[in-house]
Formats: sequence, C-alpha cells, structure tokens
Amino acid sequence: MIHNDDLNDPLGENHVGTNAQTPLRSNAFDITDDEKISLIKKDVENILNTLGLDLTDDSLKGTPNRVAKMFVKEIFGGLHPNKKPSSSTFENKYKYGEMLVEKNITVYSTCEHHLLPIVGRAHVAYISNGTVVGLSKMNRIVDYFAKRPQVQERLTIQIVQELQRVLNTDDVACVIDAKHLCVNSRGIRDIESSTVTAEFGGKFKEDKVRREFLDYIKLDTTF
Ligand SMILES: [Zn+2]
Repeated sequence: MIHNDDLNDPLGENHVGTNAQTPLRSNAFDITDDEKISLIKKDVENILNTLGLDLTDDSLKGTPNRVAKMFVKEIFGGLHPNKKPSSSTFENKYKYGEMLVEKNITVYSTCEHHLLPIVGRAHVAYISNGTVVGLSKMNRIVDYFAKRPQVQERLTIQIVQELQRVLNTDDVACVIDAKHLCVNSRGIRDIESSTVTAEFGGKFKEDKVRREFLDYIKLDTTF
C-alpha cells in the first residue's frame, strides 16, 4: 500500500531532475510581478502566522513583503523570459576552432525540492566556430538559469543548450560543482559533500577534448 505522502511527493529526498525544461505553467506570466508579490506576501504571512510568530513585532513586520519581493525579483527572477540575457555575439575568425573556457563562475541557485540554497561554481567552455560571446555573457547566462527553483542537472543542461543556441554550435560543455544546503544543513547534515554535474555537447563528447577542458578547470573532486 502506498502512503498518501508518497503520492504527493514521489521524489522524496531524491534529487533527480526529470526534464531539461523548467516545469512552468502556460499561464505563468498572466499576472504581473507586482500582483505576484502581493499574493506571495499573504502566503508568507500565513506561513509565519501558522508557525505561531507575532507579525506585529518590529523585526518580523517587514518580512512577508521582503521575502515576496526577493522571490519574484531576485532569487526566482530567472523564471521570466524577458530577463534572459540578450544573445549578442560577434564574429572573430581568429578564434575559429579555439577552446574558450570561463571557469569559477559563481552559482547561487535554489533547490526546488526544499527551497534551500545551492551554492557553487560553474565552469563553461565552447569551441568557437568563428562566433564568440563576451565572457560576462557566460556569467549572465549561468545567473539567469540559476535564479529559478532548480535541480543541478537541469541547470547544467539549460546553460549548455542556451550557449549552443547563442553560439550556433553543439560544441559546448558545462561542469557545476555545488553544495546543496538541504544536504549540508539538514537531513543527513553532510557539511563536506558537494555535487558535480556535467554536460558535454558536440566535440566535448570526445575523450581528448573533454580531457583538455577538465585539465583547464583542474577539477578536484576530492576537497
Ligand atoms: Zn533539496
């Protein structure tokens, strides 16, 4: 017999991504950001009230509105398609066939199973077909997809797919090494563990090319 909780939460503590697309409803943007903030504000008030907190206390008074704004404008701001970084690229024929690596891009995301932070670093590489992007563009693409409720596997794939589209090449790779506070601070409380995910497109599927990329980032999975 399956317990009711299992039907509502078939994933349980399993941090497995199921789809490369963020599961957004088609009517996700029918209401404005301001309307979302006022709805979420009431929801946060309700959570804190239910927990028994006194919301007339000076320290707590502003929390519901502050959290609602932070959800909509900041940590989940990357759900909105109009926040996607513009995909301006430029031609640089001298870079043809060259591997470009941007390493140690800071990742701040949020685990969609517990709504707790994911903190880590992304390392991104591509082999130019003559089209290049500014390095800060890679940071902005990582940040855009990180600012969603996420699973790390999906974040890794979304970064690769967006860069493949922008650069018009399959030859894109991304490795993310991150700590999940839902694992580090609660549950089994494993402070040291981190999770590494990787997506290798096009030529990065070849051993030699993949090895070159991993040598550049000198990923040490033992720390
Ligand atoms: Zn989690």
